[in-house]
Amino acid sequence: MILRNGCVVTPFEILRKADVKIEDGYITEIGNVTESAGETIYDMHGAYICPGFVDIHTHGGFGGDFMDATDESFDNALRFHGVYGTTSVVPTSVTAPFEQIEAMLNTVRRYRSQTPKTCRVLGAHLEGPYLSMKNKGAQKQEFIRVPARDGYAIFTENADIIIRATIAPELEGAAEMTKALTEKGIVVFGGHDDGERDLIMPVVDAGLAGCTHWYCAMSVAAMRNQVRSVGLMEIGLIDDRLTLELIADNHHLPPELVRLAYRCKGAEKICLVSDCLRAGGMPIDGKLYSLGLLGDETAQRFKVADGVAVLPDGTRYAGSIQPLSQMVRNLVLDCNVPMVDAVRMASLTPATVVGMQDCIGSVAVGKYADLCILDSNLQVVNTMVNGQFLS
Ligand SMILES: [Zn+2]
Repeated sequence: MILRNGCVVTPFEILRKADVKIEDGYITEIGNVTESAGETIYDMHGAYICPGFVDIHTHGGFGGDFMDATDESFDNALRFHGVYGTTSVVPTSVTAPFEQIEAMLNTVRRYRSQTPKTCRVLGAHLEGPYLSMKNKGAQKQEFIRVPARDGYAIFTENADIIIRATIAPELEGAAEMTKALTEKGIVVFGGHDDGERDLIMPVVDAGLAGCTHWYCAMSVAAMRNQVRSVGLMEIGLIDDRLTLELIADNHHLPPELVRLAYRCKGAEKICLVSDCLRAGGMPIDGKLYSLGLLGDETAQRFKVADGVAVLPDGTRYAGSIQPLSQMVRNLVLDCNVPMVDAVRMASLTPATVVGMQDCIGSVAVGKYADLCILDSNLQVVNTMVNGQFLS
């Protein structure tokens, strides 16, 4: 198969009037490609051929939350991300009883072993339960744990499927936990924290790799014991070891904060994440949704407001309802970020964070044919996963 006459978006430039050849689910040639007899040709009419987006922090979509742990919810959520141009996801848990998290991990394990139909499942991200009480955000307080007191067996027992963790670095035992998880290949980010410099830096030195939804539910510079100390927000901006997740939905981060992060870190150290809840792709009808497991009477509720999910009283954001392709658009149109960099933040940078940069994350020979086709208005026209168009 050949995609002809597209604008191929690489991590460094846009190749105009270029072709992409696809064989057996892989990209095999880019540039001026010669067709063989009988080969299927698609004329792209100058559309952008982007890498399929890689969303390393998402909770669901089209009514499904990964915590439901059912095929129906997984299929719905993966379809939501797939039709909007995301081709790989890292399903993310919420703070919940361990049995619920384990049920979700089992479903992630099963889906990762299958050939992807709408979206690839890379592994799981546990957001909590090792979080700060103060900045728990929409996470539930009664299930919050402390590593030194409660241990973290759930990670060590499921290290085959957990690829990411979000923990609050000020918790007792966080540095040892970060070191232990990093040695097992789990990428640890800090977030939902109430730390300050002297508590955070030992955890960065122990292997902390980034900041989860930077600026949101995160410690900032403040006076403590008559001394001004920086928090994870500022350390994230200036420490080159840390990659920032940005929820670039124009609500969680207004364009000025996106620009601040971009100026400090560049496209190589920023990944866009949807942090999308089950309400992604659903109508704004005032309905109350649950965060986490469906049918759990105690689950945190939220509703869909104009372009964002909020707690029922509207005082706090609960998560986003936008897919990554919309965030790429927001960056280009509202934050003045060049398209090549915006696309890179939604593809190669997140793929690199989870160590998958050799197979996914850019339009390059030898990688999976996972693509997102955008029109001149940066709207998704079609998605390709494993060499197959979704529509
Ligand atoms: Zn989240």
